[in-house]
Amino acid sequence: MKILVPVKRVVDYNVKVRVKPDQTGVDLANVKMSMNPFCEIAVEEAIRLKEKGVAEEIIVVSIGPAQAQETIRTALAMGADRGILIQTDDAAEPLAIAKLLKAVVDEEGPEIVLLGKQAIDGDNNQTGQMLAALLDWPQGTFASEVEIADGKAKVTREIDGGLQTLSLSLPAVVTTDLRLNEPRYASLPNIMKAKRKPIDTKTPADYGVDTAPRLTVVKVTEPPKREAGIKVESVAELVDKLKNEAGVI
Ligand code: AMP
Repeated sequence: MKILVPVKRVVDYNVKVRVKPDQTGVDLANVKMSMNPFCEIAVEEAIRLKEKGVAEEIIVVSIGPAQAQETIRTALAMGADRGILIQTDDAAEPLAIAKLLKAVVDEEGPEIVLLGKQAIDGDNNQTGQMLAALLDWPQGTFASEVEIADGKAKVTREIDGGLQTLSLSLPAVVTTDLRLNEPRYASLPNIMKAKRKPIDTKTPADYGVDTAPRLTVVKVTEPPKREAGIKVESVAELVDKLKNEAGVI
């Protein structure tokens, strides 16, 4: 079985992002970029399925600028087998990404597409769901546990206040939540080995997909600054403030 893992290059989660002065977006100049954390979890899960003998091949695909190749190399160093870079400098929206991924699925024939539940840059949480709809495949989103057996995927999902377990017939789309696993670090020998793993470079036009934006970003603003707290002298004062100033009790 093949597993396809789409991985996105995003601003590293440790970076404090800055909004551009003209409010058109986030400043990306000289900012550290890394693999989206939920995509790392998806790569790790695919590798574990390969280690268990469930999968034979893991293909990673990234849609983005030439530098997204580094993100693919990271996944290859973790243990994926080969990569596909769909190179574009357009900031493609989830529907365009999902259309490109569908084209890759049609070409590669994976039985599982394992995506992150969301990319931490746009926080869209849309691509997996749109891809499942385009493919007309079942989907298990926000997975905290995945088991594959007898042509089915048992997916435990994190939902408000508890867990839901679904049985999906394969092929299926699964998106990863934070608690699914802890991704491994690539070892130095594996980083060296990854340099020789193949990466195919394509363009959206190769798949006949138009990535021109359909949405207009009106503006991007910083969150309001948090005000400094104060120290109260007694429990009575705290209760009084909670009651009379904050109005929360
Ligand atoms: P989103 O819907 O943008 O929050 O992204 C959800 C997931 O879709 C990510 O974790 C990736 O697995 C996949 N994805 C989104 N954008 C891209 C991209 N440009 N290249 C590859 N995968 C992507």
